[in-house]
Amino acid sequence: SGIGKGSVPMVCSTPCGNPYAGLVSHLRASWLSGKTRPMEYRVAQLEALGRFLDDKKQEILEATELDMGKPSFEAFFSEILLCKNELNVTLNNLSQWMKDEHVDKNLVMQLDSAFIRKDPYGVVLIIAPWNYPIQLFLVPLIGAIAAGNCVVIKPSEISKSTERLIAETLSCYLDNDCYAVVTGGVPETTRLLENKFDYIFFTGSPPVGRIIMTAAAKHLTPVTLELGGKNPCYVSDTCDVTNVARRVAWGRFFNAGQTCIAPDYLLCTVEMQEKLMPALREAITEFFGPNPRESPDFGRIVSDKQFQRLRALLGSGRVALGGQTDEAERYIAPTVLADVLPSDPAMQEEIFGPILPIVVIANMDEAIDFINARPRPLALYAFSCDSKIVNQVLERTSSGGFCGNDTLMHMTLPSLPFGGIGNSGLGLYHGKFSFDTFSHHRGCLKRGMGREPLNAPRYPPYSRKNFGL
Ligand code: NAD
Repeated sequence: SGIGKGSVPMVCSTPCGNPYAGLVSHLRASWLSGKTRPMEYRVAQLEALGRFLDDKKQEILEATELDMGKPSFEAFFSEILLCKNELNVTLNNLSQWMKDEHVDKNLVMQLDSAFIRKDPYGVVLIIAPWNYPIQLFLVPLIGAIAAGNCVVIKPSEISKSTERLIAETLSCYLDNDCYAVVTGGVPETTRLLENKFDYIFFTGSPPVGRIIMTAAAKHLTPVTLELGGKNPCYVSDTCDVTNVARRVAWGRFFNAGQTCIAPDYLLCTVEMQEKLMPALREAITEFFGPNPRESPDFGRIVSDKQFQRLRALLGSGRVALGGQTDEAERYIAPTVLADVLPSDPAMQEEIFGPILPIVVIANMDEAIDFINARPRPLALYAFSCDSKIVNQVLERTSSGGFCGNDTLMHMTLPSLPFGGIGNSGLGLYHGKFSFDTFSHHRGCLKRGMGREPLNAPRYPPYSRKNFGL
């Protein structure tokens, strides 16, 4: 661990001996030089990120396979394609996004210029988690570069192979005076956070989010916190059970359930639970065959610690489907738990694995009360053939994002903002929202030197004015 190969050598060490002070001050000097501001520079760096994705495609698939047995289609879709999509949207729109935004003026300023300048913040820190180890550093990085910032990237130390790949190869593509990778876990990140950054973009768990925000507060650094939590999924009695089962099973078991916006638990009536069970069994068998352990399309749990935590949750409710585990492989079968109680362990924490609890409720009103009684989730799902029911759930709840009659798909649209609310985070990104997140919206007024009589009414002595006071 330490400063990755991609980073510049330390230029100096401050008296307090912070190991990253030299790196941060080097990046700050680059930012102050104005190098990252021209559009051509930003475009060149973004295009280099595109080449990184093309050249390293195979290595990315291999590294994420080693880290969590990520199936290659899932890695291609979520780590490469989504990033390329973001890159294309950004490159196609950057000149428009960068333009000054002219705003309404009052009578006195009719001949002046009032506009919003999209200024880079300066030196930005991006901290990423392990579950989508490429996408979750790269998509914020696209926004940070597009907005003209210098960036320190801190990938997760848990997804070791991907961390190594990023540290060893990203520097071959990006300007090393402006973009650096710092590797390591808690001790390294703690030291890194002692430095003053101009913006911190963090993706990870709510408890660590609090630590990041506390560290940022010492320097009054603004933050985006992309956090997690339990995402409810309400299934009404009026729905196409087969389609619901396929869409829920896909969202829950993609990346072996290690997805921040995965449906965390189902809320439905006892009758719907009965109907869903054979449909979920069929969907799971169709996706992963009779023995998902042998399927090339089903991933593994990232670490022993996560595996132990997940295995302990299998005691909640009753195992209706799956439930098999293999510690050596860190395998947990796609599992559905029926009749789970709100007091069961599976309902006390974000599951973040291939386990789907079903909590029985009496009706939609009870489901809505259940959702509103808990921390506001990152994503909320509602399934019904009756659009009024989907609308009711949307209108009477609050969450970071919402998707009716499907799971995960809302995050694939760069035109939609992505982010949490309350316990699931603060701030937005994706597409133009990323650019805006990493830009300071600087309110500017440029006046002419002449036309002084227009200013006369505001100058003292005020006693000469007659404003009718
Ligand atoms: P985590 O919070 O443990 O770690 C995230 C990052 O923070 C890592 O780079 C890690 O090195 C660093 N870190 C951990 N502890 C730290 C500390 N004490 N001080 C400073 N830095 C520290 O999260 P994780 O386990 O990597 O990821 C899982 C969590 O992330 C889940 O809660 C999930 O919902 C959430 N998540 C959210 C999103 C989103 O877009 N909102 C996306 C993916 C994951």
